[in-house]
Amino acid sequence: MSVQNELSSIIISSIEIKDMLDKIVDMIQVRLDLDVVVIVLEQDHELYVPGMEEEQRVYAISCVLGDKFQKKVIESIEHTDMSEILRMTQTYIQNNVTDSVQLFTKLEGEQELPSVVCLPIRNQEERLGTLFVGKNKENAFMDSRAFYENIASQISIGVANARLYAKMNDMAIRDGLTRIYNRRHLTELLGKYLSEAMAKKVPVSLALFDIDKFKMVNDTYGHQCGDEVIRYVASLLNRGALKHGGIAGRYGGEEFVVAFFEKDLDETYHIVEDIHNQIRSEEVVYEGKHISVRASVGVASYPQTCANPGELLTRADWAMYHSKKNGRDRITIDSEKISSQM
Ligand code: GH3
Ligand code: MG
Ligand code: MG
Repeated sequence: MSVQNELSSIIISSIEIKDMLDKIVDMIQVRLDLDVVVIVLEQDHELYVPGMEEEQRVYAISCVLGDKFQKKVIESIEHTDMSEILRMTQTYIQNNVTDSVQLFTKLEGEQELPSVVCLPIRNQEERLGTLFVGKNKENAFMDSRAFYENIASQISIGVANARLYAKMNDMAIRDGLTRIYNRRHLTELLGKYLSEAMAKKVPVSLALFDIDKFKMVNDTYGHQCGDEVIRYVASLLNRGALKHGGIAGRYGGEEFVVAFFEKDLDETYHIVEDIHNQIRSEEVVYEGKHISVRASVGVASYPQTCANPGELLTRADWAMYHSKKNGRDRITIDSEKISSQM
């Protein structure tokens, strides 16, 4: 089978991007008898999630030049901005050491890698990443431009497809405005939490946040400002949840849920209190106007306050409603007394 055909079959059969790249670099390295093959992708900032660490660059490497060289390449990828290589817009071919791409090409004893090809991977005008191949032999790529450009364009299609797939998956589970989980995905995850909690006899706790007098923000400053307030609260909730190994989702327009597996009421209350204070402690600045944001919260915990896990959300909602009725801007813990008033 030709390298191009093998490449197609890898691309067609892969769903996950990193897995696809690993297979591609290994196959190219072996089949073309190269010494190093690297694919580095640009970070996809559209998939940014508040509170989540900036994703590392996705890359794959296949290398037969020894561990030391490979480690150096990986270090460049992970810890430098690689701007020299990433700014390249056209195929770069080097067949001797004098005019070299510095980043990947230092060999043992400061010798350079004599032959390299460096190609952009792109989807129309959008830069997706870079393919880099190298051989420790002079003039290894004399007539190879068209061949490698063809390979790079095949890889580009594969990467673009995998990105599209990742984006569609992301859209299915996240809310577009806030980038935190949507209600459907939140409920799904919560269901998993709860069945596991029952099986393992461990707690699950959650809190429902509802922004106070939110309609007034919309009415006074406009809907876009309201959106900004929603984003502000969601971002703080997600940061707080992720920091403590929990999940956060947008439950309704200006209602949010944070949930923690294996955390009891007390632990959860402290986290929730912390988030609640953070919301109060800053202001949303929108077109020069300062808007202070408050929220009413209800907390419920299985099995401490609520023996039936299926009722957890309802009970948190009732506790939240109790906060609303008693002056807003507060946290109420679910109890038999409160639920009996509903
Ligand atoms: P309370 O303190 O009792 O919670 O009062 P409230 O004004 O926050 O509550 P209410 O439920 O009356 O109003 C919620 C409003 O949120 C109504 C709806 O128009 C608005 N809303 C829902 N989703 C969005 C959104 O995505 N963006 C904006 N800007 N507003 C939204
Ligand atoms: Mg509401
Ligand atoms: Mg509200």
